[in-house]
Order: sequence, then structure tokens, then C-alpha cells
Amino acid sequence: MSIVEPPVSAADVPVWDHTAEFVVIGLGIAGSSAALEAQQLGVDVLVIERASGGGGASALSQGIFYFGGGTALQKAVGYDESVDNYRAFMEAMITSPDTEKLDAYIDESVEAFDWLESQGVPFKREAYKEKAVYIRSGEGLLSTCNEKVWPFRDIATPVMRGHQVSGQGEISGGSVAMNAVLATVKERAVPVIYDAAVTALVIDGDRVVGVKVRKEGADLFVRGTLGVMIAAGSFNLNAEITMKHMPTFATYGKPLGTPQNDGAGLLLGESVGGAERGMHGTVPTASIYPPPQLIKGIIVNANGERFVTEDAYHGRTAVYTEKQPGHKAFLILDEESFDYPKHGSHIFMDAYESVPEMAAAMKVPAEVLQRTLDDYNTDAENGEDTQFHKHPDWITVLEPPYAVFDLSIPTSDYHWMSLGGLWTDADSRVLREDGSAIPGLYAAGACTSHLSQDGDEYGSGMSLAGGVIFGRRASRAVAASRS
Ligand SMILES: Cc1cc2nc3c(=O)[nH]c(=O)nc-3n(C[C@H](O)[C@H](O)[C@H](O)COP(=O)(O)OP(=O)(O)OC[C@H]3O[C@@H](n4cnc5c(N)ncnc54)[C@H](O)[C@@H]3O)c2cc1C
Repeated sequence: MSIVEPPVSAADVPVWDHTAEFVVIGLGIAGSSAALEAQQLGVDVLVIERASGGGGASALSQGIFYFGGGTALQKAVGYDESVDNYRAFMEAMITSPDTEKLDAYIDESVEAFDWLESQGVPFKREAYKEKAVYIRSGEGLLSTCNEKVWPFRDIATPVMRGHQVSGQGEISGGSVAMNAVLATVKERAVPVIYDAAVTALVIDGDRVVGVKVRKEGADLFVRGTLGVMIAAGSFNLNAEITMKHMPTFATYGKPLGTPQNDGAGLLLGESVGGAERGMHGTVPTASIYPPPQLIKGIIVNANGERFVTEDAYHGRTAVYTEKQPGHKAFLILDEESFDYPKHGSHIFMDAYESVPEMAAAMKVPAEVLQRTLDDYNTDAENGEDTQFHKHPDWITVLEPPYAVFDLSIPTSDYHWMSLGGLWTDADSRVLREDGSAIPGLYAAGACTSHLSQDGDEYGSGMSLAGGVIFGRRASRAVAASRS
């Protein structure tokens, strides 16, 4: 049976089992943010959640929220970033055509951070100085994007924007964040129906007026007099969709998420004419760092050539790797820079006394590899990477013996998440292909197209933060639609 059925006409609804002004599908970060905001605005909201509890992929996540422009946490640790600086960075890196949405994200980041804290989500006033993917050591702020990467460091002053909820040991920041948000949902008695999967939207003409729900073997109908919001998460676990749009990572990598991230949200939106956007967008990761000293090595492709600056955000490096012949890449280190990648599953090939020996093992042309190393070392002596502008912090002459890790996508474990989804506007209204909004239908979170079009223009935390901002914006739009 398909997870989503064609829309049901309101005239065919036998009886409305429940009625609310605003029906929210899914209780991850986007759905819970929307529900809390709606309730705060006096909107009668009802959440339908397929699992026995809320959380979704948000609770599995590392709990990094990407905010800038002078948040209370940034200020507390010494970064009084201006909104202009934040905007300059975001506009340089993110190529989304949805500029109104990008503006909304930028303009609301400071307030969204305050709001999250007011829901009980804890962020420690301390910064983590090393380059990292995520941390469990308690600090609340770290760099999780391309802030110090060229050309962005010349466009905007690099500051930390990864707002990291403190996780410890096995407990992820995402689970700490969602425990806090869900406790607030409970405390404020936001109504939720659990173990209830939305299987279809109900329409009256072209307006979405409710949902069909499968619960305990029976069908229920729930009316949303002002609207319905899809916050049902990503399609990462839907192999049919991911093989179509991101075949390399779907073939070789491992999707991030829960079994409920099966694309139901996307399919529900599409069932009433919602358009999709950015479907190829992927954030893959098999980071070379930490430890950061590995950034001092060079990454080459199967031709023996560098193709990316090694200090890039890990999702950016992975997206560039995917574009290389055979999706192959190698990290070359020397004795001084050598260590094992902490997160990556990269295969340690061996240590080599000479470039020809190393090139033979890597099956790359020895003369090209020699030239690549020579050029890089000349640049290193001069303190400037003229090819990819790696930050001077990470440039040193590489001397034999060398060590090589295989970073190739077919042989390493790349974990990935999708960035595409339903096309929405700045008020989180679901749009048709012609740009018109579907009356009564909103969407936010990972079932919608992210602002970042691909992993090279993403930074950790943009997904959770987008869920908060656009989930709440949907509720504000619904509240405004009453008057
Ligand atoms: C390991 C991991 C680490 C990550 N780390 C980060 C990070 O640090 N920062 C960041 O920004 N992003 C991170 N992400 C991505 C981020 O977690 C997700 O993009 C984000 O949580 C999506 O939130 P959401 O509310 O849209 O969806 P979800 O949190 O997945 O919530 C969707 C909810 O909808 C419910 N649902 C699904 N279908 C139906 C249906 N038919 N009817 C009713 N309910 C339904 C689900 O059960 C679920 O509860 C990470 C992801 C993973 C898996």
C-alpha cells in the first residue's frame, strides 16, 4: 500500500472526527515549533504524529542550530556580529532563488534563538575553538560552516554560528533539544494524537481543509478550518525518491533519519499540486576532521590533482568529491600532520617513502601527483595557497614519508541527508509549479526545500534552525489569516 493516497473530497468525508483551526502533521522540530507558536497566538491547534512520541529525526540529530547576526550566545562569548555581516556571508554562500525566505531566515535568527531558549532548550555560554563537526563537551557555540573558507572569509568577518545544544556521551544535542521542546508541548497541553499517520489530504475545491488519518486500523478525518501544515520530515529513507535524485549517495552512502522519514510529507504536498524544488541537494559527510591537523594534508582525485580546499565544511568537500572521476579522493598526510580521522570511516592505505610508490598504490599518474605536491609545497613555503586559498593556518610543507587515507565515496561510509522538498514561500505556504499558493496548505522542516541548494552551500544547523523559523512563520500566517 502506498504511504500516501490521493486527496479526499470534503464531500466524501463521512464525519469529521476532530476539528481544530490548524492541523499540524508531525512533531519534530518544525511541527513542535509551529504548534507552540500557534497556541501562543491563540490558534486552536492539533498535532497528528505517526510515532508513539514526538521527536523524529530532530531528536536523533546533533542539535546544532545555525543562527547569526548577534545572538545572545554569540554576544556572550565575544562575537557581537552585525546582521549585515551575517547577511553578507549567507548571501555569498547560499544560491537560493527564494530571497524572501533567505531574508526571513537571516532577520529572525536572533529572535529564534531567544525563543528556543525560552522553550527550555539549553545552550552553554562557551565557545569551542577547534574545527569540529559537532561536540559533546558542553560548549554552546562552534564553527559549523564555511565561515573561514575562501572566498567567504574575505566577504564577511568569520564568526561562529553553530549553536550547539549540549549533549553528553551517548546523548545527542538533538535529543536534549527535543526533550526540552516536547516537555514544553506537554506542559502547555498542546493537543497531540499519537500513533496516527496522515495518509491523505482532504480538499474542498482547491483548498486543503483537513486530513485523513490511519490510527489503530481505522480511518479518522480531522478538519483544519484555517489550514493544515505538513511537518512530516525528510524523504531520506525513501529509496525510490533518493535513487532518482541523488543516486551516488543513495547507492553507496547511508541515509540519516528515522524510518518515518519516508517522504510522506513530500508526497502529501504533491498529491494536491505542490511543486518540488532542489531535489538533488544532499549534505553528505565523512569528514576528515577532527582532529583538525588532518586539514594540513592535501586531498587529490584519481588524476592526482587537488579539487577542493581541505579546510572546507565537510559537506562541501563531500559534494566536490562526488563530482570527481569514479567519486574517488585521497587524503595525503605527512608525519607531522598524521592522525586517524575521528568520525570518518576512511580506509588507511599505507605509508610511502616516495611519490611514485604512493602514486602506484593510489593508481594515480605519478608525474601529476608529483607536480601537485611540488606546487603545493612551493605555495606552502610562501604561506599562500594560490590554487584553492586554504587558510594559512593549515598550510605546511608536506615531506616524505607520506600516509594516505582513501576518501572515495564507494569505499568510505558517507552519511547523508536530503535538502530538497516542497517549494514554499516565506510564509511557509506550499506553492504550485506556477508559483501560486495552495490555499490552506503550509509546510516546514525537512519535507520542504532548504535554502541551501546543495551540501557545498550548507552549514550544520541550517536544517533545525529552518524548522524553527519557518514552522513558526506558518503559524503566524495562519493566525493572520483569521482577521
Ligand atoms: C544523525 C543526524 C544528525 C543531524 N544533525 C543535525 C544538526 O545538528 N543540525 C541540523 O540542523 N540538522 C541536523 N540533522 C537534520 C535534522 O535533524 C532534520 O533535518 C530535522 O530534524 C528535520 O526536522 P523536521 O521537524 O522537519 O522532521 P522530523 O524531526 O523528522 O519530524 C517529522 C515528524 O513527522 C512524523 N511523521 C512522518 N510522517 C507522518 C505522517 N504521515 N503522519 C503523521 N506524522 C508523520 C514523524 O514521525 C516525525 O515525528 C541531523 C539529522 C540526523 C539524522
